[in-house]
Amino acid sequence: MRILIAEDDEVLADGLCNSMRHSGYAVDCVKDGQSAKLILSGEQPFDLVILDLGLPKLDGFSVLRSLRDNNRQVPVIILTARDDEGDRVKGLDLGADDYMIKPFSLPELEARVRALIRRGQCGMNPVYACGKLTFDSVARRTMIDGVPLELTTRELSVLEALMMRTGWVVSKEQLLERLYSYSEEASNNAIEVYIHRLRKKVEPAGVTIRTIRGLGYVIDNLHSQAS
Ligand code: CA
Repeated sequence: MRILIAEDDEVLADGLCNSMRHSGYAVDCVKDGQSAKLILSGEQPFDLVILDLGLPKLDGFSVLRSLRDNNRQVPVIILTARDDEGDRVKGLDLGADDYMIKPFSLPELEARVRALIRRGQCGMNPVYACGKLTFDSVARRTMIDGVPLELTTRELSVLEALMMRTGWVVSKEQLLERLYSYSEEASNNAIEVYIHRLRKKVEPAGVTIRTIRGLGYVIDNLHSQAS
C-alpha cells in the first residue's frame, strides 16, 4: 500500500508519516498543493491520499478537483482545520471518500484508512489466500493454517504485493515501488534479501516464491502446480 500525505503542518505531517510507515505502508509526503497535484499526475500509482484542504500554492479542493477531472479514482481522506460543515460538504461533493476534523487521533485516522481498504475502495481485496497461507490486508496479518506468521513490516509489504497477484509475475520495480517512498534509498539487493527470508517462512504453507529471471517473482501454491 502506497499512501500520499499532503499536509503543510510539519509536526502533523511527520507524525502522520511515521505512524503510517510504522503500520507498514509506503508513505510519500508533500507540503503544498502544487507538489501534490504534480506527484498525483505522475506514473506512480497511489492506493490512498490523505489531503489537507488548507495547503499553500494550491488548496486541497483544487488538488481533489484535478484528481477527479483526470478520472483518478484513488480514495481520498480530506483533513479540515475547523469544524466547517461547508468545507466538508464541498470536499465530499468533489469526490473525497471520507474526512477528518483537526485535531484528530492517529488511531482513528488509521481505522478509517483500514475501513476504506475493507470496502475495496483501494482496489484491494481484504484477504488473499495461497495454499495454507492467508494475508489479511486490513489487519495486516499473515497466517499459515490459522497460525500467525511473524513477519517484519517490509516482509509483510513484499508478501502483500506478491499475494495481490498470486500466480502472476511481480517485477522487482513493482516491489520497490510498493516498499519505498521517493525519499527512501532502495536497492534491488534488499528485495532479494526479503524474498530469500520470505521463501523460508512461507514454505511450511506449501507455498513457493519462484524467481523468473529478468522478470521478477511469482508466488504460487506448490500443490496446484503439481496437479
Ligand atoms: Ca494546512
